[in-house]
Amino acid sequence: MAWDFETDPEFQKKLDWIEDFMRDEVEPVSHLGMAVYGPEGRERFIKPLQAEVKEQGLWACHLGPELGGQGYGQVKLALMNEKLGRNSLAPSIFGCQAPDTGNAEIIAHYGTPEQKEKWLKPLLDGEIRSAFSMSEPTGGSDPLTFRTTAVLEGDEWVIDGEKWFSTNARWSTILIVYAVTDPDAADPYRRMSMFIVPTKTPGVEILRNVGVGRDEGSEGYVKYNNVRVPYDALLGERGSAFAVSQTRLGGGRVHHAMRTVGACKHALDLMCQRAVSRTTRDGKLSDYQMVQEQIADSWIQLEQFRLLVMRTAWLIDKHKDYKKVRKDIAAIKVAMPKVYHDIAAKALHIHGALGVSNEMPFMGMVTSSFVMGIADGPTEVHKVTVAKQILRDYHPTNDLFPAYHMPRQREAARERFAEDLKAVEAAWKARRKADAEAEA
Ligand SMILES: Cc1cc2nc3c(=O)[nH]c(=O)nc-3n(C[C@H](O)[C@H](O)[C@H](O)COP(=O)(O)OP(=O)(O)OC[C@H]3O[C@@H](n4cnc5c(N)ncnc54)[C@H](O)[C@@H]3O)c2cc1C
Repeated sequence: MAWDFETDPEFQKKLDWIEDFMRDEVEPVSHLGMAVYGPEGRERFIKPLQAEVKEQGLWACHLGPELGGQGYGQVKLALMNEKLGRNSLAPSIFGCQAPDTGNAEIIAHYGTPEQKEKWLKPLLDGEIRSAFSMSEPTGGSDPLTFRTTAVLEGDEWVIDGEKWFSTNARWSTILIVYAVTDPDAADPYRRMSMFIVPTKTPGVEILRNVGVGRDEGSEGYVKYNNVRVPYDALLGERGSAFAVSQTRLGGGRVHHAMRTVGACKHALDLMCQRAVSRTTRDGKLSDYQMVQEQIADSWIQLEQFRLLVMRTAWLIDKHKDYKKVRKDIAAIKVAMPKVYHDIAAKALHIHGALGVSNEMPFMGMVTSSFVMGIADGPTEVHKVTVAKQILRDYHPTNDLFPAYHMPRQREAARERFAEDLKAVEAAWKARRKADAEAEA
């Protein structure tokens, strides 16, 4: 019997450390807003906390030991990420922030030894930051709509085009750029290639830093004007951008889901705290059944989602191959925005006017729940993946009525058990005769 929902005591000690560190160190710094993100802010606030995390052996835990991580695997990572998920600054402190994690993953997978030496090490050490520059204003869900081109001139690639929502472009040292290199390739998914472009390369222009919701933003609207990079800026094979980006997005989606469990748990905690504290009419909010219903529904929804996330993490550890877990990863991607939205919206509602105010985190949470349904591909696209993967196990029949049509099943059963049915009928007959004789 291998169904086990317990955390081993040694790892629990690490989780307890994270819990205390989050409360005492990370959360206070997170209230300082954008001040912590600039170079001076990083030196003063972020780096000392990162040093403590490294000392505890908890830095970049999504990585295998060959890349300097602990190699804990996804289940332990999920338990850690649940704690980090309640605060948006925490992943940067623990060396597992998007989009750097995914970018490091693809450089580790596809980079040349020179690229790894130059970019991977400082990225993994938290010395530099990166951005993933794929989506365009023309559309993000469908890579075949992208227009940005990279044309080979001599031994240089010349990149031209516009990218949209390149998260953290303004803080980045490198941009991983997705561009059309082979517009005539027969397979449309082999038309694009990936490049590592230093952000300070002449011609890289950040037109705007777009914000999500009302927040000040870091979603780069980036223009590439005749940007020249050497031939070996190519990341992975020419024409392989689609395949490379799929490697990247698999892990990212799972890590977002793990952290969303933490964010939902945080919203539920605040909801319950308010419900037991706030008095109205002749009792606490928590005395009213409609409030209780919201708490119960939230808890049930969260626990269901958490189990799906943990099971997916366990499957990744088991198969060590994201492709084999595609359906499960797509399923948690679909479930995530709804669970987060429902719980955050209830927490907001139970706080009344305070809940919608800018003095509480709920509006940000609700906005984030919408982001979860869009970033890394919209919900609809992932639902299609889930359905297609499920349908693979089903085969069509040309029969007029399906194999599970009940008259057909009944007939087959009667045929199979004909002898037994005869014996049963005979026994009933004998019984009825005996009853009739007894009555007579
Ligand atoms: C906070 C945030 C951070 C992001 N960070 C990055 C980043 O770092 N780098 C990057 O390159 N991109 C990033 N993105 C962009 C993201 O990948 C795209 O927004 C996403 O792929 C959707 O593309 P779109 O916004 O162009 O929407 P569209 O592609 O225009 O889709 C809009 C809507 O159309 C519907 N739709 C689309 N396709 C289908 C379909 N096949 N079936 C049914 N309905 C469909 C859905 O309702 C979808 O929400 C980020 C986005 C957000 C919100």
